Amino acid sequence: MLCQIDRLRRRVDEIDDTIIDALARRFAYVDQLSAYKRLHNLPLRDDDRERDLLARLERSAVARGLDRGFISGLFRNVLAGSRKRQVEQMAGPRVEDQAPAAVRSVTPVRRNGRDAARSRDRDEDPCQLVSRHAAGTDTAFPVGDVMIGTDTIVIAGPCAVESREQIMECARAVREAGGSVLRGGCYKPRTSPYSFQGLGSRGLELLREAGDALDLPVITEVMDPRDVEEVSCLADILQIGARSMQNFPLLREVGQSRRPVMLKRGAGATITEWLGAAEYILRAGNDRVVLCERGIRTFETTTRNTFDPGVIPAVRERTHLPVMVDPSHAAGFARWVGPVAMAALAAGAQGIMVEIHPDPAQALSDGKQSLSLDEFHDLMTRVRALLPGLSPDRVMV
Ligand code: PEP
Ligand code: MN
Repeated sequence: MLCQIDRLRRRVDEIDDTIIDALARRFAYVDQLSAYKRLHNLPLRDDDRERDLLARLERSAVARGLDRGFISGLFRNVLAGSRKRQVEQMAGPRVEDQAPAAVRSVTPVRRNGRDAARSRDRDEDPCQLVSRHAAGTDTAFPVGDVMIGTDTIVIAGPCAVESREQIMECARAVREAGGSVLRGGCYKPRTSPYSFQGLGSRGLELLREAGDALDLPVITEVMDPRDVEEVSCLADILQIGARSMQNFPLLREVGQSRRPVMLKRGAGATITEWLGAAEYILRAGNDRVVLCERGIRTFETTTRNTFDPGVIPAVRERTHLPVMVDPSHAAGFARWVGPVAMAALAAGAQGIMVEIHPDPAQALSDGKQSLSLDEFHDLMTRVRALLPGLSPDRVMV
């Protein structure tokens, strides 16, 4: 159980992260501004605008009970940082002359009698930062007190947060069984607009509350770039769902947040497209990304999706990012979730994400594939038998 002081410190840390996020976003706009000024030969500084800006910020700070001098000093520093950045950019090569090193070194290739290098739409390798060659070691990062990438992670929880009682019961089951992270969808991507869409912000609060009560980090899906800020404030990991895998504005937005991101594979995405999507997140500045395979759509309809365990070594060979598996959306039926989970771990998955529910028959989404709390407990016993190095109370190798 977290005591009150730890909980308050966590909130303060989250706000600090949000401030960093906001500054990173501010500087990204400053970069665009300086590119525009350069293109149109506009002066770098506008003293009148800076004066007006500071006066407006001071007024708004005072209205919220903050000290004028403190805010003024803070923003003078921010403005000085922006100017320094713009000066550096003005001195650098023009944006349109810049290309990633890997692209610049490509030798022109003739295809079908055309000079491919002349075409502006070059087939650039999407997997540069995510490539195994780009990093000396496998990526690993902490979430709560586990390390994604080195510990074997078990994420579990309901498909959707439905009520305080439901998410608390799930959180207790995850804690007792030795899971590492609590999941719970709040903004749900549903095929039908008439199906339960999730509890939104209210669900997010309940998920956070349950995570705090049981000392578990929490993960939830974010679907809309406009929600990234809100979700980043309360969730420890941002989930990008299969349907959003190529929502590029969303990928850029989570790339600018300081939260780790779980990127699910799109149902119709090749491995290269999946890695290309991860590249967007890394390129935007966030390298704490974990991939999650959840099966793809094939002609087979018996299982919900088709899961090939061979994907795990294949992807791990190509990237330094950790790879997990969601056996629930792969199998689609509770009785096949355990075998798929075991196959995934045996094939080298660095964790699994499993849907559970206190009463699967009554679940508002994905009840058929949700394990009951007892079934989840049994699965965890089998997982521990498969990975004998696991500690009895926390699943870690
Ligand atoms: C989910 O995890 O609840 C989910 C919607 O999964 P996917 O995006 O893989 O369909
Ligand atoms: Mn689901």
